[in-house]
Amino acid sequence: MLRSGRGRGPGAHRPVCAVLAALLVAAVGSGCASGADGQPGDIEHRDRPLAGNPGSNPELNPAATPGTNPAAGHPGGPGQHAGRGRVPGGAHENAQLGPAVRAKLAKKWGLDKPPLIAPRPPAVKPRVTTREGFEVKGGDDSLPPVFTTVPTKDRVVFLTMDDGSEKDPELLQMMDELDIPYSAFLSDYEVSDNYGYFGEAQRLGVGINNHTLNHPYLPGLSYAGQEREICGEQEIIEKQFGKRPTLFRPPYGNYNGDTLRIAKSCGIKAVPLWNAEAFPDHMEWREEDEDLHPGDIILTHFRGRGEWDGSMTDLVRAVMKTVTDRGYAVARLEDYV
Ligand SMILES: [Zn+2]
Repeated sequence: MLRSGRGRGPGAHRPVCAVLAALLVAAVGSGCASGADGQPGDIEHRDRPLAGNPGSNPELNPAATPGTNPAAGHPGGPGQHAGRGRVPGGAHENAQLGPAVRAKLAKKWGLDKPPLIAPRPPAVKPRVTTREGFEVKGGDDSLPPVFTTVPTKDRVVFLTMDDGSEKDPELLQMMDELDIPYSAFLSDYEVSDNYGYFGEAQRLGVGINNHTLNHPYLPGLSYAGQEREICGEQEIIEKQFGKRPTLFRPPYGNYNGDTLRIAKSCGIKAVPLWNAEAFPDHMEWREEDEDLHPGDIILTHFRGRGEWDGSMTDLVRAVMKTVTDRGYAVARLEDYV
């Protein structure tokens, strides 16, 4: 039985240069510039989809300051960061930093403990199937699977952020320095005023995925209407970010058979929902045990103080406390699905 409940509760790769820069910024100077609410669709969810959705500001601070690595040796010194982006699967840069450095970074961002380091991604991605109870009428294995947890024995969870209204530069910096991977599910109406923000996130290793153009309740739309919302967003993401997404999340977690058929028709391979939702001051759980499980997908949103009680960095501190205290590392969804 699925449910949502209130629990206690209180990703990306980055150039190490920036990590070091952050550490050294006070001391040295020099240059490695681097800077579900919603009505049920025609699927029968026995649960109430966890919370809803919907929900700016640009300018990223290019870090600066190069440096020698104070702690652990990292392959490649200053100068190797020109690319500034991360390669999917190339995470774990912080794994190469010493514990003292990681502890300092955690402290800098107000975390009690450094995030746990995820194991290497699987060489072969697991086969993901639709969660029981989430099937659509007439659906079969040819449709993109709808799931809330990725099948894995790794003690990892996945952090996903939806919509895109809040564009906090500190979030990008924090996730980069702490080496916490996450995946964005963007709705164009929230994002179109500043694609650059999410472009920067993408360069830092964030996966850019589809969450429709205007965040509608999809089962209420005609086939053509859904097609516009889903495939239209595919086109925009491809144009703005250079890559057509393969992951799609329907607004509020509501969908029907048309949704999945349309998504498949324009390149979607999988439909990750979520098993827990994170807020700055609490978690909401889908399962009665109110706990995390290996492979669980955590939903949260690009929101700010105007929409909830805290900033994006407050949100990350809260969710990372839950994740780390329960012995999980955050892994990159696109490495598994
Ligand atoms: Zn949303």
